[in-house]
Amino acid sequence: MTLQSTAPVQEATHFDRFSIPDKNGRFGPYGGSYVPETLCHPLRELTNAYEEAKQDPDFRNTLNSMLKSFAGRPTELYYAERLSKKLGGAKIYLKREDLLHTGAHKINNALGQALLAKRMGKQRIIAETGAGQHGIATASVCARFGFDCVIYMGAEDMRRQALNVFKMKLSGAEVRGVEAGSKTLKEAINEAMRDWVTNVRDSHYILGSALGAHPYPGMVRDFHRIIGEETKRQFHEKEGKLPDEMIACVGGGSNAIGFFFDFLEDLKVRLVGVEAGGKSLSEGEHAARFEGGKLGILQGCKTWILQNPDGQINQTHSVSAGLDYAAIGPEHAFYKDRGRIDYANASDDKALEAFKMLSSEEGILPALETSHGLAYAFERASELSQEQILCVNLSGRGDKDAMEAARVMGVEGLPSMSSMVHE
Ligand SMILES: *Cc1c(COP(=O)(O)O)cnc(C)c1O
Repeated sequence: MTLQSTAPVQEATHFDRFSIPDKNGRFGPYGGSYVPETLCHPLRELTNAYEEAKQDPDFRNTLNSMLKSFAGRPTELYYAERLSKKLGGAKIYLKREDLLHTGAHKINNALGQALLAKRMGKQRIIAETGAGQHGIATASVCARFGFDCVIYMGAEDMRRQALNVFKMKLSGAEVRGVEAGSKTLKEAINEAMRDWVTNVRDSHYILGSALGAHPYPGMVRDFHRIIGEETKRQFHEKEGKLPDEMIACVGGGSNAIGFFFDFLEDLKVRLVGVEAGGKSLSEGEHAARFEGGKLGILQGCKTWILQNPDGQINQTHSVSAGLDYAAIGPEHAFYKDRGRIDYANASDDKALEAFKMLSSEEGILPALETSHGLAYAFERASELSQEQILCVNLSGRGDKDAMEAARVMGVEGLPSMSSMVHE
């Protein structure tokens, strides 16, 4: 079976969503800060700066105003009427994060952290990127604020995402290729951390998901909470009630936790995170951490990780680069144990079907990451009644994936990615 929902470990009872992380960055047994000593000081400085900024109405007002004028918030809550009728079950709503500037939710976090960096007096920004979405959001924000910007990217990812590399460079970023290991995201994060240790005086590291050492998981979540806050307000306006189920894809987990956060205490709303089921659930062929993962520590954070019995990190695979990572954000591990968020996974094939289906039925091309959430939602909708409501976070648009989808679907005659950009 390609779609699987994991059973809740214990019944959800009551939650205080603001009680985690604690002051040490712990989400129950998860999270924390497992870093070399040289990183302790910059992480503490960042934690303090963020705690201060959070309390400062000026910071919040400036961020809100930039989210509106630069990123394009609020985003629409859109009723996918044609698709809902075709599937014949629940009403399907889409939270349109794909309409944001640079094409995905990532800009919410990039803007928040850039404003924080400015407040801390930093002049230089470091970031990592896998497929390029976080790199593009960061490069764009850096151009807007006049920061120097260095993006670390695996050499293999640079080859696969040549157009995104070009876009980052257009925005003035320097893109540094990483040749170590599998030459993908994990190695890029290592390099970015190394740079940060060396240049911590003038540099801030903008981590791209709800992952890594404290304060990143909680801070990145906070910058994405606006997704769920808007969604709640919009449901009150449009339907006069909350949805029955909310669904989001989970890479590191930032779009999902931002979407879910304001609903965690609304126990009647079922929350479902969808991981990448890849080619199969055999080792090395997927990125479903809750299927094949074990408790461990990766890049500063204790959480569920795909690893072998010796603790070596497994190869992962997904048709969507943004879900292709061996660890999941610690807050997701916490809510999985509590039974508050359910997790499922969708295969590459199901995601591609959903990608085609939303495009043909609604004229909306979703990102391949997002398509995993959609795949689950489309199957689930037909199990629910027409009075019920299901809402999917449309985390990003699919323009970036059109070429890859064409290749996988066997379309001929399109130029290859790498032939489009000349160094
Ligand atoms: C990066 C990305 C994701 C995965 O990251 P999360 O931190 O899990 O949200 C999902 N969708 C899109 C469109 C992305 O660009």
